[in-house]
Amino acid sequence: MPGTARYIHQIARPAGLPRPTDFAFLEAPLPAVAPGTALVENIYLSVDPYMRQRMNEGLSELHTPIEGRSIGRVVESRAPELRPGDLVFHREGWRTHALVRPAEARVLPRYEGVPLSAFLSVLGGTGLTAYVGLTKIARLQPGERVFVSAAAGGVGSAAGQIARLLGAEQVIGSAGSAAKVKRLTERLGYHDAFDYHDGPVGELLRRAAPEGIDVYFDNVGGDHLAGAIDVLRDHGRIAWCGGVSQYNEAAPTHRPANLFEVVHKSLRLEGFLVSDHRHVQAELENFLVPYLRSGELVADETVATGFDRVAEAFIGLLQGENLGKMIVQVGEV
Ligand code: NDP
Repeated sequence: MPGTARYIHQIARPAGLPRPTDFAFLEAPLPAVAPGTALVENIYLSVDPYMRQRMNEGLSELHTPIEGRSIGRVVESRAPELRPGDLVFHREGWRTHALVRPAEARVLPRYEGVPLSAFLSVLGGTGLTAYVGLTKIARLQPGERVFVSAAAGGVGSAAGQIARLLGAEQVIGSAGSAAKVKRLTERLGYHDAFDYHDGPVGELLRRAAPEGIDVYFDNVGGDHLAGAIDVLRDHGRIAWCGGVSQYNEAAPTHRPANLFEVVHKSLRLEGFLVSDHRHVQAELENFLVPYLRSGELVADETVATGFDRVAEAFIGLLQGENLGKMIVQVGEV
């Protein structure tokens, strides 16, 4: 098949926020389709904060492809499990075309009324992270009060909506701008929200939840974690999902000064990786798809268009330019 494939390598270690010059856009002839493989033309690529962590020394090799979640269409196949036209999910990352084996690709179901991109947002690893954090780690109960940080991002926009669907009494979100705060309450079903730039997180949270909170879904770490520990009620739970406030720091300071409150209040703080919970995917889809169809759940996404914009979208994500899940569209749906 004639044509070229484009792909992106990390070529330098970022110091702080990554720069466009940390990446190289490369081109090669389309790979030959060997027996047992299929060629996928990508449609959507995911850019995620964890990629920033992996760019540090010792966690990735320079001048190699960047791993990541992608959705594409099979255009040629020598594997009976993958047929031309199939829409598949795979992890071959930032490239226009990928050669995949059936074991490395999931043929996606089509749910009427649900956009394909949702398999990278609420029905993808992002939504699964939110669902697992709330149901398996925090074990949220109806009637409880929940705080979610980075609430207007991919995981956060899913977590807030899912917490409400699970019957939370109050869902509070924090985000980095007044426009995001407005969006949380007007579009994403948060009961209360605040901009974390407006004061110490603990004080802003206490104002929103004078009676305290039962669950903290932590995407941010640092001052957010410390503030939530202050406001959690006895026997509260923290699902520690991420620490995006620290990823660009040369010397991350994850440890909150009030950590011993975990003992005084009999709190449970549990970290988790979504990769240990892939088996929950079917449960996630069974739970969320009816709400997506009815409109009670929004697949909140920012979609940048064009392969040339992948690195830019990734850098923008780390600066909070996204509303919901940041996705790059690189091909026709
Ligand atoms: P987001 O869509 O939430 O994007 C990152 C957001 O972080 C930005 O939009 C920005 O929003 C916010 N942010 C950036 N810097 C800061 C800061 N200094 N303080 C507070 N907020 C900041 O990304 P994801 O939804 O993909 O990921 C959210 C979190 O979940 C990350 O920590 C990620 O690592 C984690 N994660 C963990 C997984 C797991 O398996 N444990 C799996 C997937 C994600 P704002 O404008 O509000 O500042």
